[in-house]
Amino acid sequence: MKHNFGAGPCILPQEVFKQASYGVLDFNDTGLSILEISHRAPEFVAVMDEAIALVKELLNVPAGYSVIFLQGGASLQFAMLAYNLLPEGKKASYINTGVWSTKAIEEARLFGEIDVIASSKDKNFSYIPKDYTVAADSTYLHFTSNNTIFGTEFHTFPDAKNHLVCDMSSDIFSKEINVADFDLIYAGAQKNIGPAGATLVIVKDEILGKTGRAIPSMLDYQKQISAESMYNTPPVFSVYVSMLNLRWLKAKGGVDAIEKENIAKAKSLYTEIDRNPLFKGTTAVEDRSMMSVCFVMENPELEKPFLKYAEEKGCIGIKGHRSVGGFRASLYNALPITSVHVLVEAMQEFQEKN
Ligand code: PMP
Repeated sequence: MKHNFGAGPCILPQEVFKQASYGVLDFNDTGLSILEISHRAPEFVAVMDEAIALVKELLNVPAGYSVIFLQGGASLQFAMLAYNLLPEGKKASYINTGVWSTKAIEEARLFGEIDVIASSKDKNFSYIPKDYTVAADSTYLHFTSNNTIFGTEFHTFPDAKNHLVCDMSSDIFSKEINVADFDLIYAGAQKNIGPAGATLVIVKDEILGKTGRAIPSMLDYQKQISAESMYNTPPVFSVYVSMLNLRWLKAKGGVDAIEKENIAKAKSLYTEIDRNPLFKGTTAVEDRSMMSVCFVMENPELEKPFLKYAEEKGCIGIKGHRSVGGFRASLYNALPITSVHVLVEAMQEFQEKN
């Protein structure tokens, strides 16, 4: 049995994989594959509608917000959001907490003045900056809620009087959020939503159409909203499996229920990291991510042997990103707590042997 701690694309529930495979062979008893029907067919329109309805229900999206599925990954959103939100000659604020925020900043600079009001680069992005002020003339404040590579997470969101824009690629649907606090939320699908290929965007309608820019249709949120995520052919399979996965989450009791499980999973692993003298965490304790647990060994020479030992126990995908080293265990929604227990046992056994 494999325990998949990979950072993304990553584990999805086994039952979702099974249902997805049925859909590939015979979608809803149509005698056709989900891959061969028209995206304009009522059967697929129903899939898109249900996926969007589930996002709204699971996150309690209030009236006045639109939910769309796009393509291009979270990386395209780095540019698209600035294109749509930042008027010529205006300024936006960014908090830099890692690789993904840095990329978001670089892309946004193509569209206006970007004020990096806080950064944790001085300590290899191992903490969440807490001391900053957002300039009154800033159009929005952008941050990355979970830093997939460095293993830090905002446990309290910045206060920017509603003008918050957030990359939630690696922690959306892992915990309860108040969508009304945000102007825009975006996330690549391939962690807690579904397979790679779709990108979820939740945007407050009233902030759109104010830049005075002419925006190419594919990059224009308003056009994508009025076309109901079907301006062009959507990533049908990714949307379909995302819908199945959101159904799974709803059946489990929704975000509130999964949050409790996620807290228990993270607690179990961090407790072992802190207890076991061979290991240590890499981030400020108060900013530790519940989704991306980064840790190293006191003796770096033991890292390769531990990686091998953990792999023998079925724990895969735990090699850390090269910018942090050591290990990263991603504890996304679909990862059962039993998998975390297997990793913790491997750490304990490895300690006994070393
Ligand atoms: N933001 C975050 C927080 C991520 O973790 C990732 C991918 N791991 C990205 C953005 C980039 O996403 P994509 O590959 O969908 O462009």
